[in-house]
Amino acid sequence: MEKEFTYCMPTQICFGAGAAKKIGDHIKGENVLIISDPFLYSNGTAKEIGDCMTGKKVTYFSEIEPNPSCESVNKAAAIAREIHADCVVGIGGGSSMDVAKAVSCLVDNEGSLYNYYSGGTHTFKPRKTMLICVPTTAGTGSEVTNVAVFTNKKIGIKMPMVNQYFWADYSVIDPELTYTLPPQMTASTGMDAFCHAIEAYWNKESVPICDMLSIGALKLIMENIKKAYDCPNDKKARGNMILASLTAGISFSQTRTTGIHALSFPLTTEFGANHGTACSITLPAFIRLVSHNLPGKMNDLAHYLGYEDGLALADAVEALMISMHMPVRLHEIGVKDSDLEHITQVGLGAAIIHLTPAEMNEETVYALLKSIL
Ligand code: NAD
Repeated sequence: MEKEFTYCMPTQICFGAGAAKKIGDHIKGENVLIISDPFLYSNGTAKEIGDCMTGKKVTYFSEIEPNPSCESVNKAAAIAREIHADCVVGIGGGSSMDVAKAVSCLVDNEGSLYNYYSGGTHTFKPRKTMLICVPTTAGTGSEVTNVAVFTNKKIGIKMPMVNQYFWADYSVIDPELTYTLPPQMTASTGMDAFCHAIEAYWNKESVPICDMLSIGALKLIMENIKKAYDCPNDKKARGNMILASLTAGISFSQTRTTGIHALSFPLTTEFGANHGTACSITLPAFIRLVSHNLPGKMNDLAHYLGYEDGLALADAVEALMISMHMPVRLHEIGVKDSDLEHITQVGLGAAIIHLTPAEMNEETVYALLKSIL
């Protein structure tokens, strides 16, 4: 008999080419804060979407950096409070959407993000301000998760924050917004989505509904990522990639991630690797490890994707990454032998590492890292 499970993903999803142009239909209230990053403001994306909000007073905050800091959240929250925002819209990759999540809560809650995150002892009162997420990368799935990831610059650590008020009211998913993604970002964000799907699938907390979403997402990514990388305007490939990222997001929103994401945090904060690269660099090694521990489930997945077993799948994923000029060895992003112990320690400090279906301790994590140095 299947195991018992619960499933909740309360966000309303509006998906389709041109969906962003109808965003005004969903907004309640008058004052809107759009949160995005410098590129999406300067190339006109944020403004074009803001212009579709007929009759609303729209303010823009476009200073979000990758791996956003708590300070950026606090700065955006001050503006949201000042304009009495009724609705906060995050337009961008995971960084802008994650900031929008926290800002929508801080409108109705006093103090700074530090009061609620990274050792802060306050808890958010229910959010009254509306939250809408509009992804422009096909990667993080943040538009359908109750997670946001911030960098605490005071201690130099990046870590996730999970909160029930981080579920967006609406997610507006428009594949056209991803056409401007350059090949390298298409590759790294797409492989981030691959990690979400597979980490939900093999997770100790895996859920049958999510397993089905995960295998669907993994197939879409295997079939479309290289096409989107080679031809940025391939509509079908772009649509399939953002659908895959969405379904992978719904999947890991129930289970959280595992060792891949735990080890990505120090690889980003200390070696500057972007999020998708920091995750996928350990992906083939984790597939090999988990295939050893969960052979039945991993063979089922491999067969569905057209490979003989989990090890063949790992080889195919590594070859796919190489074909997109992604690093597959840690030295390629500047990691040295002498760094491995430290990366191991930081990775073991992230609770999600223990959702990996394998023993995760100093010895095993070090050995995994050493195998891909
Ligand atoms: P990002 O938001 O950090 O953006 C990276 C770069 O891509 C920026 O320079 C941005 O301008 C550019 N970009 C975004 N969309 C573009 C487009 N359409 N065309 C051209 N350039 C574009 O990138 P990301 O990988 O989407 O997000 C990573 C962040 O999300 C990390 O902080 C990560 O930890 C977090 N994350 C959150 C969740 C979650 O559930 N909340 C899940 C996974 C990752």
